[in-house]
Amino acid sequence: LNPVPTDIEISRAQTPKPVAQLAKEIGLLPEELEAYGRNKAKVQLSLLDRLHSQPDGKYVLVAGITPTPFGEGKTTVTVGLVQALFAHLKLNSFACLRQPSQGPTFGIKGGAAGGGYAQVIPMEEFNLHLTGDIHAITAANNLLAAAIDARMLHEATQSNKRLGINKTDPASLTPEEISSFVRLDLDPSQITWQRVVDTNDRLLRKITVGQASTEKGQIRETGFDIAVASEIMAILALADSLKDMKNRLARMVVGSSRSGEPVTAEDLGVSGALAVLMKDAIKPTLMQTLEGTPVFVHAGPFANIAHGSSSVLADKLALKLVGRDGYVVTEAGFGADIGMEKFFNIKCRASGLRPNVMVLVATVRALKMHGGGPNVSPGAPLPKEYIDENLSLVAGGCHSNLKKQIQNAHLFGVPVVVALNVFKTDTQAEIDLVCQLAKECGAFDAVPCRHWSQGGRGALELAMAVKEAAGRPTNFQFLYNTEMPILEKIRTIAQKVYGAEDIDLSPEASSKIDYYNQQGYGSLPICMAKTHLSLSHMPDKKGAPTGFVLPIRDVRASIGAGFIFPLVGTMSTMPGLPTRPCFYDIDLDPETEEITGLF
Ligand code: ADP
Ligand code: MG
Repeated sequence: LNPVPTDIEISRAQTPKPVAQLAKEIGLLPEELEAYGRNKAKVQLSLLDRLHSQPDGKYVLVAGITPTPFGEGKTTVTVGLVQALFAHLKLNSFACLRQPSQGPTFGIKGGAAGGGYAQVIPMEEFNLHLTGDIHAITAANNLLAAAIDARMLHEATQSNKRLGINKTDPASLTPEEISSFVRLDLDPSQITWQRVVDTNDRLLRKITVGQASTEKGQIRETGFDIAVASEIMAILALADSLKDMKNRLARMVVGSSRSGEPVTAEDLGVSGALAVLMKDAIKPTLMQTLEGTPVFVHAGPFANIAHGSSSVLADKLALKLVGRDGYVVTEAGFGADIGMEKFFNIKCRASGLRPNVMVLVATVRALKMHGGGPNVSPGAPLPKEYIDENLSLVAGGCHSNLKKQIQNAHLFGVPVVVALNVFKTDTQAEIDLVCQLAKECGAFDAVPCRHWSQGGRGALELAMAVKEAAGRPTNFQFLYNTEMPILEKIRTIAQKVYGAEDIDLSPEASSKIDYYNQQGYGSLPICMAKTHLSLSHMPDKKGAPTGFVLPIRDVRASIGAGFIFPLVGTMSTMPGLPTRPCFYDIDLDPETEEITGLF
């Protein structure tokens, strides 16, 4: 249709097939499915055992060039590509997507199910509670937070005389004896574990707990993060079995004792309970695209303080389900310098899976921005350079950011297909120029795609290019060996991927690195927390900046998830609501139960 209707109108106009039917079509047994209503179902992990000897399909990563603040269409390309592969090339395909946080849905960004004729349906179920995984994470995260504060209270209010109790069987001890027997002696100023909620509630960024008189003066400052920033979300995304998830939950470090020793969820005796709360969340949720092809929605860790990819388990299940000639397409958050780098160095290292092709999403508007076009910002009208043809700005963007992101994929030995996501203002000359220059910059192929306005049919050329690229032998390699010193790993990413001259460590960052080395965490991979709006740490520097020194302000660690995360600048882990939030437009018709205003 022209003009293309709104996302929710398109989503609602198509009745999804019953999930039980979809499951049957893709080869699931009825007992492997746990339906949540008519449109979505969790899939049991036992499927991995049943399909153990089945060869994996091809593994395709969708990443993007450095985006404008609007997003350049990675999710729509992911969905359009699987629609094209399945419905038009008759190849098995599966999309694996992240579950979005509800915060942005009611705040600025809106939904994340794709858009136009390339989306997951029903989009309102995708964007809202889905099958409750984020609620489970919230419950687990906050149980751990409560365990920390209660433990500190009980230890503080117990007489020290009880220390050194001389009994060895904890089961024979009274509760008071237990907490004095194994005193954790947590240092309140060193607690790093925060509470979470899945709402953009900025006033919770810093709070004081323990103000009731019953808490006996155990007052301390702490804060809330958005639920998807919880380390438990990162663990859900990286775990490859229930056992692995349980071990990772047990290893999470929540702070340190007064003598400087790390204290874990296991030390607090809560890790079994956390695994209980997460036991259903570990199963991926099956949904479908507008054209009835299968999608797994599973996990959605933050892309800055975590690695920003959907789950290892969803990818593994999907690769078995599509079989040798099939395709699994998954998305990495942010630009390729962050999303792709972490996908390869963190997620592929954890999963053992190896990618066949990287699809690099570009838009004419983002290329013009990198080529020197004026700043664009949400809410303000697009400057005319972005509406009228401007070949020199487009060329500037191709020779800087696009070229650098293609080279970044080549660092890992992965071939690149550039997907130019076409907008209605793009001219034929601009489209041709991008495709020509992308190939000159080293892309295996570069094609325009019109899935947003045409569905799978519009991504047919992309599907054929991906199939061609995936047929070639790959030569995948990690960017760094984890045994390298932490500092060297950070410098390697900064210089090779971002184009930095060098890094500059704050004294705080430096002493944290020493501490992590001392604790035996030195061989974890690195998860950089950097802005996605530039290859550098300066969001205003577009294109492919060089000659800058990347400042490392602080270094933190997610021991359960299994990475060290250096902070480049300040990262907000709790977004706020704007003056005109999306929720103004969201409404429900009580007669028809129809939702309006979601996009
Ligand atoms: P990303 O995953 O990179 O953040 P999305 O795929 O979610 O980007 O797209 C961002 C927004 O842009 C969505 O609202 C989507 O509907 C819209 N969009 C994507 N591609 C097009 C297009 N070709 N024309 C118009 N709008 C588009
Ligand atoms: Mg997306």
